[in-house]
Amino acid sequence: MGKFSGKVAVVTGGASGIGRATVERLVDDGAFVAVFDRDEFTPIPHAPDAVASHSVDVTDQAAIDAAVAATLERWGRIDILVNGAGIGAAGTVLENDDSEWQRVLDINVMGTVRVTRAVLPHLIESQPAVVVNMGSAVAVTGFPNRALYSASKGAITSLTRAMAADHLKDGVRFNSVCPGTTETPWIGRLLAAAADPAEERRRLEARQPHGRLVAAEEVADAIVYLANPLAGSTNGVSLSVDSGIQSLYSA
Ligand code: NAD
Repeated sequence: MGKFSGKVAVVTGGASGIGRATVERLVDDGAFVAVFDRDEFTPIPHAPDAVASHSVDVTDQAAIDAAVAATLERWGRIDILVNGAGIGAAGTVLENDDSEWQRVLDINVMGTVRVTRAVLPHLIESQPAVVVNMGSAVAVTGFPNRALYSASKGAITSLTRAMAADHLKDGVRFNSVCPGTTETPWIGRLLAAAADPAEERRRLEARQPHGRLVAAEEVADAIVYLANPLAGSTNGVSLSVDSGIQSLYSA
C-alpha cells in the first residue's frame, strides 16, 4: 500500500520534465493520475493503466472541463491537483510586447486559475485535499532578463497563499514549489539554442549554490511531500528547491 493508494491526482504539464517526474512518483506511491497536457503522455511501462492522458491546452476552458468530467467518470474523485504546465520567457521589461505578456500570463497564471476553478469543487468533496502550484526561484529572487517570467511566477506564489486562506475551511491546502534551474527538456531546448551550449550550461550550474542543476526528481519529491496528507499542517508556503539561492550567501 503506497501513501497515495486510493487517491486520484490531476497533473497539468505531466507529459514532460518536472510534471512527468511527479506523475511517476505519485504512481509509484499508489495514485491514479490524469495528465492534462498539450502533448501525449508516454505510458509508464510497469503501470500503463495508472495514468490517463488527456489532450488539454490550459488556455482552453472547455477542454479542461471535459478532461475533469472524464477523470471523474473513470475514477470517481479527485484528491490532488498539481498545476505544472508552464512556459518561459526571456527579456527585460523593455523587450516583451503586449502579445507576449498575454501569451505567457494566459498559460502560466490563467492556466492555473482555469484548472483550479474546474477541479476545486471536487477537491472540496474529497477533503482532505491539496493543490501544489509551480512557482520558480525567480518568484522570490530577482534574476536578470526574466521580467515577464518572474511576474508570472510571482503571481502564482501570491495566488497560492490567497487560495490557501480562502479554502482552509474547505479542507483544501494550497502550496507552491519554487525550483532553481532544473534538468528537464525545457532546459535542454534552452541550451540547444545557445551560441555555446557548454558555456551556457556552466553558467547555469554556477548560478546554483551547489554548482549543479536541480534534478526533476528532487522537485517531484518536494511536490509529493506537499501533496501527502501527512503534511496537513503545511499550508500557503512556497517551498524552495534551489539549493539555497533564496536563503544562502555563498559568494
Ligand atoms: P517542460 O517543457 O519539460 O514541461 C512542461 C510541460 O508543460 C510540457 O509537457 C508542455 O507540453 C506542457 N505545457 C506547456 N504549455 C502548456 C499548455 N498551454 N497547456 C497544457 N500543457 C502545456 O518544462 P519543465 O522544466 O518540466 O517545467 C515545468 C514547470 O516547472 C513550468 O511551470 C516551469 O515554469 C516550472 N519551472 C521550471 C524550471 C526549470 O528550470 N526547468 C525552474 C523553475 C520552474
